[in-house]
Amino acid sequence: MSQESDSRPSVVVIGGGYAGIRAARELDDIADVVLVEPRDSFRHNIGSLRATVQPDWAPNIFMSYERLLSRGSVVHDRAARVEPGRVELVSGEVLRPDFLVLATGSRYPSRPRTRRRAAKSPRTTTPGPPRSWSGRTTQ
Ligand SMILES: Cc1cc2nc3c(=O)[nH]c(=O)nc-3n(C[C@H](O)[C@H](O)[C@H](O)COP(=O)(O)OP(=O)(O)OC[C@H]3O[C@@H](n4cnc5c(N)ncnc54)[C@H](O)[C@@H]3O)c2cc1C
Repeated sequence: MSQESDSRPSVVVIGGGYAGIRAARELDDIADVVLVEPRDSFRHNIGSLRATVQPDWAPNIFMSYERLLSRGSVVHDRAARVEPGRVELVSGEVLRPDFLVLATGSRYPSRPRTRRRAAKSPRTTTPGPPRSWSGRTTQ
């Protein structure tokens, strides 16, 4: 994958959230890094509460990936299939890195179960919020 030197390992980082951008930047000096991220810009979730109460500040929580890496590159695509040493993107492009960093976050493909939905499944237990915190429960 490297065009510059065989001595630098190639690394594909999948996911440009907090974990992915940190990994990509740390490796940028010592490896040929390709960050795969479908979004145009990084979203600083932690600033979203301030943006909610101060709408004119909202643009500050979006940061372009353009200047993230000085040597590596960012591919705006989504990993469709991942195997050791092989990443297939939705576009059909195939990357064959020496190393792979999976940083796709922890979102679930479906809604989390509420206590009421979980109660219908006798083999599942989903703890709700403590009463002293929420002031009420869903049951
Ligand atoms: C509104 C909001 C406010 C928050 N506030 C706080 C807070 O105040 N303090 C705190 O500690 N935490 C907060 N969090 C939680 C925090 O944002 C997460 O813990 C953190 O984002 C996890 O980082 P991550 O890099 O593991 O995953 P993510 O940030 O979820 O990043 C995953 C990235 O992977 C990309 N991706 C997913 N699938 C693919 C694929 N197949 N191919 C390529 N890319 C893919 C996604 O586009 C995404 O950019 C908040 C979250 C939200 C939503």
